Amino acid sequence: MGNAPVVIVTGGTRGIGLGIAECLAKEGAKLVLCGRRSAEDVQPVVEKLEAMGAEVAYVIADVSSADDRKKLIDETIERFGRLNVLINNAGVAPNVRADVLDASEESFDRLMNINLKGPYFLTQAAANCMVEQKQKDPSFEGRIVNVGSISAEVASVNRGDYCLTKAGIGMATKLWAVRLAEFDIDVFEIRPGVIATDMTGGVKEKYDAMFENGLTLQKRWGTPEDVGKVAAAMVRGDMPYATGQVVTVDGGLMMHRL
Ligand code: NAD
Repeated sequence: MGNAPVVIVTGGTRGIGLGIAECLAKEGAKLVLCGRRSAEDVQPVVEKLEAMGAEVAYVIADVSSADDRKKLIDETIERFGRLNVLINNAGVAPNVRADVLDASEESFDRLMNINLKGPYFLTQAAANCMVEQKQKDPSFEGRIVNVGSISAEVASVNRGDYCLTKAGIGMATKLWAVRLAEFDIDVFEIRPGVIATDMTGGVKEKYDAMFENGLTLQKRWGTPEDVGKVAAAMVRGDMPYATGQVVTVDGGLMMHRL
């Protein structure tokens, strides 16, 4: 992108979202991060990213709320005057890992709202904003990146609700890639494997043992930076002629072996 891109990273103040934000900060992006914590709480993160070269705005916004999604887009335009890239990263795991024979509708609804409905309608709002910009300025470049998961394909029966949301994201990537192609807005998806963040903190020992026993080809935890580098390539335009594609960042976990 010619000018520094204006990039929204949902849930961009910790974990994978922060890994993405750091990689983009090094390239001088203008970042809009959203999350549910107070501005005071995230101030050290904002300062770190600014020191790395980014301009940063933080918006308190819950992606499952329609009002908050509107606020996020409005504040982005107010602050930076445009929006080039939306990175749908925010997501949650179930509060309790429950067998599909027992898991609650309450958990199902919570995950659907945050992991699937939120990014789907945030994409709709961002896409309309990008299309409007493209119509005013044919040189405008827009992109959308979804952070899905290998759980779109790998069945974990103790978090079926989570897997369903990520399978849904897989279809959302296709739908938006098809719909936005005429506006040259690329849509990509990253499917991380097992990444060391707060989300996986509670199952560290289980996965440590699985890595040891050959879960992946590359025998280590993935890092937020691994995902961030791939996202930065997408934002930079280094994935040309490939809209709609999924990049799996899993150290080879998904590779069938015999
Ligand atoms: P994390 O829990 O460390 O961070 C999640 C971030 O999303 C936090 O900043 C949190 O505040 C934010 N968030 C949560 N709910 C939100 C909401 N309703 N509105 C706005 N922000 C919200 O998790 P992570 O591991 O960094 O996960 C990031 C994404 O990557 C998620 O979509 C997750 O499903 C996906 N993912 C993670 C892994 C992994 O192994 N960690 C693997 C595959 C996919």
